[in-house]
Amino acid sequence: MQTDFVELPLTGLEEPLSEVELAVQDNAHRFAAEVMRPLAATLDRMTPEEVIAPESPLWQVLQKAEGLGLSVLQMAELPPLERARLFAIATEELAWGDGGLAGALLVNHFPVMYSLLAGNLEMARYCEGKLGCWAITEPDHGSDTLHPDVEIGAPGKPYGQPNCSARIVGDKVVVNGQKSAWVSGAMTAQVCALFCHHVDEQGRTGPGVAVIVPLDLPGVTRGKPLDKIGFRAMNQGELYFDNVEVPLAHLLAGPETYHELAYRMLCEANPHVAVCAVGVARAALEHAVAYAHERRQGGQAIILHQHVRYRLFEMFRKVEAARALARRAITYNATAPRPAIIASTAAKVTATQTAFEVASEAMQLFGGNGVTRAYPLEKLLRDARASMIADGANEMLAIRGAGSLIDPSRLRQSATGGD
Ligand SMILES: Cc1cc2nc3c(=O)[nH]c(=O)nc-3n(C[C@H](O)[C@H](O)[C@H](O)COP(=O)(O)OP(=O)(O)OC[C@H]3O[C@@H](n4cnc5c(N)ncnc54)[C@H](O)[C@@H]3O)c2cc1C
Repeated sequence: MQTDFVELPLTGLEEPLSEVELAVQDNAHRFAAEVMRPLAATLDRMTPEEVIAPESPLWQVLQKAEGLGLSVLQMAELPPLERARLFAIATEELAWGDGGLAGALLVNHFPVMYSLLAGNLEMARYCEGKLGCWAITEPDHGSDTLHPDVEIGAPGKPYGQPNCSARIVGDKVVVNGQKSAWVSGAMTAQVCALFCHHVDEQGRTGPGVAVIVPLDLPGVTRGKPLDKIGFRAMNQGELYFDNVEVPLAHLLAGPETYHELAYRMLCEANPHVAVCAVGVARAALEHAVAYAHERRQGGQAIILHQHVRYRLFEMFRKVEAARALARRAITYNATAPRPAIIASTAAKVTATQTAFEVASEAMQLFGGNGVTRAYPLEKLLRDARASMIADGANEMLAIRGAGSLIDPSRLRQSATGGD
């Protein structure tokens, strides 16, 4: 029989990968298949307290992940394009293994990444090898933290009191307050990249301070690990700061440089969530294609029913498009003179929306089996759903990203009648 079947590479319609890229992909894929998938299934059913307990399989994953050799500091020495591609390739494989564990591995590197973005090599070296987290959102401030100038707040309304702030006193940064229950990795982290408000000598608050806080300092406490629907292998929870004194050398940005660092941080973090979401979407697509071959209805494998083929095609098309945009945004931002926030938010919004749509359609394709815990779809759908809020709710990221389209010079022209 004439067949159009094509055996695609792991990541679909790919231009040929270099030898190094293939090796990194192969290594990450094996780790995802052999270590992450089996342990993620166990972690998903554990309570949040059990996930972080000393006997939890989480520690095996973290320990074995060291063998992947994904050192941010070492990768920083590579040319930007090469580094960006390798990161995207490895991250997609890890998230294909499990979105929650991929997130848990990623956030551990955030303090190193943000130190490098701030140009603080000393702090990057200090954080390398330590479990990390990144805390920006607060109980009363989530979406509005996406833009320190409250461009995202309600017009004309005051920002309200921050829940967490820092003063710079002599050679110390003194932190007080609390971060939200959503800080990924907060329960296990040793260091935190903290982004919060600054309080000046007159007691006025404004953006902002970014500082690396060692979480064993006196005055740091943690809340309870959060119970949630998706990414259950990635712990989350509050951090509390009571007059925590951090050496000034740990400062990544003060009021003058906060805006730029917060901007670059969003440009960096969002595409990582995007490639994670592509990995989740691809896992759902692969399960759906496999099931459509196995499941027989009406006397034949359901993949031979035309409408099933149409639905699989739609899923494939969306995964390819999301990956293409995620890779494009990551490489654009790595090589542009200044990264564009519209690139990173477009990638994140598209890929997480795709992951949700593809996981949902895959669940539908599994019929009744899709909603049982014996099959992997219900977990993929829960993970995909959480990704639409992680790192910024998608609709708010769209508003933030669209800021890149506003050309102030044209605004002035239209305000003066176009001359
Ligand atoms: C899986 C996951 C991982 C996360 N990891 C981290 C982390 O590592 N570190 C960290 O600090 N935070 C983290 N977060 C928090 C995340 O960034 C926030 O949940 C997100 O930014 C939304 O903030 P919020 O939950 O306070 O929602 P809110 O800001 O309260 O928003 C609630 C709703 O109101 C809408 N809304 C809000 N403001 C406006 C407006 N001005 N105009 C129109 N609509 C508006 C939003 O779109 C949303 O639908 C994580 C969250 C999740 C789910």
